[in-house]
This record gives sequence, C-alpha cells and structure tokens, in this order.
Amino acid sequence: MSSTSKISDHRRKWDTEEYERLASERLQAELEAQEKANQKLPPVKRDFLRQRDYKVDLDSKLGKSVVITKNTPSSQTGGYYCNVCDCIVKDSINFLDHINGKKHQRNLGMSMRIERSSLDQVKKRFEMNKKKLEEKKRDYDLEQRMKEIQEEEDKLKEYRRERKKEKKRKLDDAEEESGDMPSELASIMGFSGFGGAKKKA
Ligand SMILES: [Zn+2]
Repeated sequence: MSSTSKISDHRRKWDTEEYERLASERLQAELEAQEKANQKLPPVKRDFLRQRDYKVDLDSKLGKSVVITKNTPSSQTGGYYCNVCDCIVKDSINFLDHINGKKHQRNLGMSMRIERSSLDQVKKRFEMNKKKLEEKKRDYDLEQRMKEIQEEEDKLKEYRRERKKEKKRKLDDAEEESGDMPSELASIMGFSGFGGAKKKA
C-alpha cells in the first residue's frame, strides 16, 4: 500500500504548517530588526557648513621626489592625501574638489547647507574685515619701515666696505711701489720706514 502511493506520487511533501511557522517567525524577526535599526538612526542632524580655518597646503611637496615602496603607508604615496576620508587624490584641482565636496564634509560632520546669516552677523563680519584691513595696513607700514632701515644699514655697510677696500688698495699700491723701488730711492721718497714694517706676509 505504502509502496504504491510512493510510486504514484513522487513529489516531495512539505510540512506546510511547520514552514509557515518558520516563515512568520523570520518575518517577525526581520520586522523587529528593522524597527531597531530605525530607532538607532534618528534623522541625522548635521552641522551647517563652516568656513575652513586653515590654509590648504597644496604645494609643500612641489618639486620633491619620494621613494615609494610596497610598505609605504598610503598617506605617504604620491598625490594628495585626505586624512579625514583616508583617500588619495591625484592632483590639486581634484583635491580641492574633494575637500569641498559632499562626502568629505559629511565625514567632517557637516551638511552642505549654509546657515542663514542674521543682520547682526553680517554687520559683525563687516567690522571684522575692516579691522583686519587696518591691521594689515599697519603691519605693512611697519614692514615698510623695517625694510627702509635695513636698506639704509646695508648701504652704510656697503659704503664702509668700499672705504676699507679703497684704503687697502692705496696701501697695497704704496707697498708695491715701495717694493719695486730700489731702496735708496725709497728712502729718498720717505718710504723706507713703512715698506719694511707693513710688508705683506
Ligand atoms: Zn576627505
């Protein structure tokens, strides 16, 4: 009896109840996991875009060569390395694009949105820039003055040097003349005393 039924129905039989139970359990678990994930990720609140407060270094490695081996950390291989995103960009334009880009700013915790400035902020900014300009001017004046002083000093030095040279040349000439001259002539001309004393070593 059993053998005939096996032959007539060769299809596998599924325990539908059991599998339905398993399926519903899995569905439940998935739903719960999703809910958990949703709870874990509250809507991400990123800061507004801020101004960079450092100067981007684009040319410190210009014209230099570096040996790169297999073991060189990626930060030191050629190109521009971004330590925030741990990536390498091959040229300065793309590097600037990268650090101004969405992905990089996101890694810094910023969105691409900018804060809307209030009137007060704008006024303050104007004031700050004005101050900066004045400071710059003052610095410039100071720099200019320092430069002038330096130039004056240089000129003085140059003048002294020239005078010294001049003196020395005269002295040398005198010595040479006195050296070339026969001793009697020298003595006649009044050089004898000093020709001997100031002879070059
Ligand atoms: Zn980056």
